[in-house]
Amino acid sequence: MNALAIKGLKKVGDILLPGEGAFPRFSQTQLETQLPRLMDEMYEDDRSGFILLMNIFGLLPSFVVRLILWTASFGHGSVFRQIHIGVRGVLFTLYYSGIDQQGILPALNYSTTINTKLPQDDEMQELLRNANPLTMPASLLGPTLIMEKARIAHESIRTLSVSDRLKTIKRLRFVVLKRQEEIIDAIQVETHKARTDVLTSEIFPLLEHLAFLEAATEDALKDETVPTPAAMMGKKSQVWYESMGVVLVISPWNYPFYQAITPITCAFVTGNACVYKPSELTPLQGLVESVLTEAGFAPDWAQIVYGDGRVAQELIDLRPNKIFFTGSVATGKKIMAQASQYLIPVELELGGKDPMLVFASANIQRSVKGAVWGAFTNSGQSCTSVERLYVQDSIYPEFKTLLLSEVKAMTLGVDSDGNKDMGAMISEKQVKIVADLVKDALAQGAVMLTGQEWDFHNKMIPPIVLEGTTHAMRINQEEIFGPVLPLMRFSDEAEAIRLANDSTFGLSASVWGEKAQVLRVSRQLVTGNISVNNVMVSEGNHALPFGGVKDSGIGRYKGVMGLRSFCTVKSVLVDGNSKKIEANWYPYTTKKYRLLSRLVQSLFLKKWIGFAVNGLKLETYSQKARRD
Ligand code: NAD
Repeated sequence: MNALAIKGLKKVGDILLPGEGAFPRFSQTQLETQLPRLMDEMYEDDRSGFILLMNIFGLLPSFVVRLILWTASFGHGSVFRQIHIGVRGVLFTLYYSGIDQQGILPALNYSTTINTKLPQDDEMQELLRNANPLTMPASLLGPTLIMEKARIAHESIRTLSVSDRLKTIKRLRFVVLKRQEEIIDAIQVETHKARTDVLTSEIFPLLEHLAFLEAATEDALKDETVPTPAAMMGKKSQVWYESMGVVLVISPWNYPFYQAITPITCAFVTGNACVYKPSELTPLQGLVESVLTEAGFAPDWAQIVYGDGRVAQELIDLRPNKIFFTGSVATGKKIMAQASQYLIPVELELGGKDPMLVFASANIQRSVKGAVWGAFTNSGQSCTSVERLYVQDSIYPEFKTLLLSEVKAMTLGVDSDGNKDMGAMISEKQVKIVADLVKDALAQGAVMLTGQEWDFHNKMIPPIVLEGTTHAMRINQEEIFGPVLPLMRFSDEAEAIRLANDSTFGLSASVWGEKAQVLRVSRQLVTGNISVNNVMVSEGNHALPFGGVKDSGIGRYKGVMGLRSFCTVKSVLVDGNSKKIEANWYPYTTKKYRLLSRLVQSLFLKKWIGFAVNGLKLETYSQKARRD
């Protein structure tokens, strides 16, 4: 392969153009119409730097410009390289066109200040020296180029067989296992979690997920033959599950590794390319890329874009084929509003306010331990944490005594040996949210049974049990997302159900007690997931679909249903390539009407002899029917 082909270029006359199927895909004729769009989508700093450069080029003879670009683009010059990075690859397009000659830029009338700040560390300098949009990491490209690369990547992923995709997933499982401790270290640095929390709620469920993909994807995606009704005898009906294109995944900070790899791999096994935007609080910079690369992912199969919500908004405007969002209700609504402009399908995995109901028939020891773990794992920063605990009157005193002794025995710290129960909060902002809700409840008469030592500022919030809260208080309406457990009581089944359903959320719930009773109650709960005689465990089985109702979200992921939510569902009816004329086609004649009418009657009254006779007559007549 020659140097041009390696760069994804080809030479046409005296102009360089992108090569076939390579990036970016602008042709010579498209260029004039593409330029204003490109300018619009460039970052402000890049745009002004780029304009200045073009103005300078405008003063130079064309052969000098071409020489500079040629030399610099192939890694020998520093000036172009610097500016090339400044414009995040967009200059490549202009390089192909010789755009400085076409007078378009002056006509666009932009101001000119330049910002070509280069990253300082050696590794990055080396990377920039060899920069090429085809191989540059997503972090150095603008959203337009990232999305272009993803669309091209989709073309190659969709042609991989499912079994080839699953070989990569298997390798990924081994890479995660091999690098387990290193990954846990990195997660702890950014999240301040207890080490065991990271192992049990990021690594373990991720491995379960990958194992589920390996076991279930082939069957989930294979063509599905569905029944064909009697009136369509001789035909075959199938559902095909096909890739959608580019899936944009936007994730929160509470399980940053799990919530990266899980949706990325769902997108991948179903044949999609993925653009992943982690939370700005837990970017795990470079970690996800390195794990995926080691497993054999090509760089463009899943591109990772760092930044805050604005970056995600820019990506949405570039019309990915699906948005998979996990995060808060407020952000979910914004995403849905933005996506609605382009009719992009959205899947929203939002917050929760999960109730736990403990009936008198429950095993008290076990349910107490379940409540403590369900409320305080991950410092309560889990969408399915127990946020409201309701205990039946008759066992309330005993339950409360045991609960308090369990909570008081908990140990706190960001440990390196797995010997602490609960770590610290993610951020000061989240600490303030928790503090405000607790203060509000205390001001209205709630009592702190544990955690009184907390100063309402320290990120190491101790586990707090509150008594005396009511549903009129914010603490029982809003998501706490911290280690706070409001303990309440109920008298009977009806009251338990009413209290559990009295929330705008509906993500998950847990119900404890004698089996017939808890199953009966579970049927009455308005929620997406239920753990019976257990807590936060329904999401642990990756064969079960996961998602919420009400404000907790839209859509389901995990399980076969979840995998198929990353697919375009194509319904196909296959008929023979015969000369047969369908009975319902033209011409419509009175005789055909009568025959059709009798057929409808016999079919839906299930008079099979009449159906067979009328069907035969209609069939024969339809082949020769002529307009009178
Ligand atoms: P968040 O909504 O503040 O942010 C989530 C992501 O959205 C981040 O990557 C953020 O940068 C991005 N974002 C922010 N504004 C945006 C915008 N306008 N457009 C597009 N993207 C934007 O949520 P968070 O504080 O990071 O996470 C906590 C929330 O996530 C809680 O409500 C929790 O219940 C929820 N959550 C839900 C699940 C679930 O599966 N249902 C799982 C984990 C967390």
